[in-house]
Amino acid sequence: MRLSPRTKLVKPSATLAVTTEVARLRATGIEVIDFGAGEPDFDTPQRIKDAATRALAAGATRYTPVVGTRQVREAVVAKLKRVNDLDYAVEETMVTCGGKHALYSAFQALFGEGDEVVLPAPFWVSYADMLVLAGAKPKIAHAPASQGFKLTAQQLADALDARSRGVILNSPSNPTGAAYSERELQSLAEVLVSYPDVAIIVDDVYEMLYFDGDRPAHLLKLAPELRDRTIVVNSVSKTYAMTGWRIGYAAGPVDALAAMGTIQGQCTSNPTAIAQAAAAEALAGPQDELAPMVEEFGWRRDDVLARFGRLAGVRCVKPAGAFYAFPDVSALFPRVWRDRPLGNASRVCEFLLAEARVALVAGDDFAAPNHVRLSYATSRENLSRGFDAIEGALATLR
Ligand code: GLU
Repeated sequence: MRLSPRTKLVKPSATLAVTTEVARLRATGIEVIDFGAGEPDFDTPQRIKDAATRALAAGATRYTPVVGTRQVREAVVAKLKRVNDLDYAVEETMVTCGGKHALYSAFQALFGEGDEVVLPAPFWVSYADMLVLAGAKPKIAHAPASQGFKLTAQQLADALDARSRGVILNSPSNPTGAAYSERELQSLAEVLVSYPDVAIIVDDVYEMLYFDGDRPAHLLKLAPELRDRTIVVNSVSKTYAMTGWRIGYAAGPVDALAAMGTIQGQCTSNPTAIAQAAAAEALAGPQDELAPMVEEFGWRRDDVLARFGRLAGVRCVKPAGAFYAFPDVSALFPRVWRDRPLGNASRVCEFLLAEARVALVAGDDFAAPNHVRLSYATSRENLSRGFDAIEGALATLR
């Protein structure tokens, strides 16, 4: 069948491709330790499942308003106040089919043909492709491991120019786990203030998964003058182990949210009614399950760092949050597997999947080709077994 030229602009999601490959191997009876999937291994808390069951019994089986029920939008407003001390009206919020579709609608609503959008790298694989689908041009600003994967104010200033229409900030970051401090956010904000035509997309999906000390204040708390051109994007997926429920949300100026709502209305209609009820409970109910989950991720982070420390030549920046580690594995590139040097991160991943039965994601599509991403959203036992297998496989290489 003849496909539109648009299909050539995007490539399959590298993260989802690894998840699919793990599922394929497992279906053939091959046991794989999955360090690829970026989703919590915890189950959705019972109180949230119960809310969904109640909603279903009460007949939440029909369309809701496109941008979500009053109940879930009020829960979003309350969360933004409680967690971020930000004031939003219900009309300035919407729920979406996962955080991903909030980003998609925001890009479609804000950016057009040729608009430049500054994308600090390493970045989550889908930003670039979704920007391209909107006609925008990602302007990649590299923040290497040597600076903790964090863009400096000077680098942001260097990346912005008269053609800039947007910037994307994601902290803690997928894939690096790097998180900006308040001082760093403040200095980025000081640059952004001078670019009034630049929209700011703040992806807070990992905001609760923060390990060392207090979570920094929100960018908009530090720089409220940016509020009228910022879209805050978040989701219940990571915070409440609800990836499969597909509920994200956005908050921002009412005109932008209305445009995003119109786009959503023509694409998906409302997100699933039952999942909205569950998300309302997730956001507004007791938050007791969070602290133990974050503590467990923190322990795993420490385990992972210790194990990478044992792999000769592999260097890993200490992640401050999320559940990813993003080591530089270029020291392994000269090692020989199947008669030729490993050569690049994709082949390192291929080697580890074939010989250690461990799945990782290559750094290429995160714009960091010397790195691989390890998700430690898996048990400490799996982490230990996986690293044993990695060490065993590497020991066989010349
Ligand atoms: N955000 C997760 C990841 O990076 C989920 C998969 C995806 O949508 O990319 O693995």
